[in-house]
Amino acid sequence: MAWGTVRDVHEDEDVTTSADEPPLVPSEHLLAGRGSLENMVAAVLTELLPYSRRLSVTIADPENSELARVQEWVTSNKITEAQVGEWAGTPVAGPDVLGWISHWPVSAQGRTGTAARFFQPGGDAAELAVDLADWLHTVLADNGVSGPVPPCPGHPHPHPMRPVVHEAAPWWQCPQGGLVRPWLALPAR
Ligand SMILES: [Zn+2]
Repeated sequence: MAWGTVRDVHEDEDVTTSADEPPLVPSEHLLAGRGSLENMVAAVLTELLPYSRRLSVTIADPENSELARVQEWVTSNKITEAQVGEWAGTPVAGPDVLGWISHWPVSAQGRTGTAARFFQPGGDAAELAVDLADWLHTVLADNGVSGPVPPCPGHPHPHPMRPVVHEAAPWWQCPQGGLVRPWLALPAR
């Protein structure tokens, strides 16, 4: 199942809010997906301390158009909740399916403005963690942070490490090569 093709646009996009409309999916059925994404964002922000304190990161509900699009995709492809649970790595109750698959707008406000991207709560947890960290690295750099986040311990002139997936877990890697350590703050899903 090609989950990654659900929505091809992952780069920075204009995020419009649909706060005036009631959500297409009752909010209690979005909580599981939201909670997973919130935990992942919190883990990334912990890994990127202390500089991440300069950012205010918020997660908005998926737009109704996104929920409707995913609903149609789920129906037309006869996606089962068992398939979604296997993909997400956790049991998913029927009404919660759309929240796990939908792309949620995540905004990061800093001194120079607000950046936004969409992220799916489901899918591979380590890849989500690394995608979020890559993006927030860029946002921090755009906000003038030149300090090492997090600092590479093996070199006299500290430089930041890069987030990478290693054996299905997020790790930090020295940009000059070599894995350094696993993340300390990855939540269980
Ligand atoms: Zn290094």
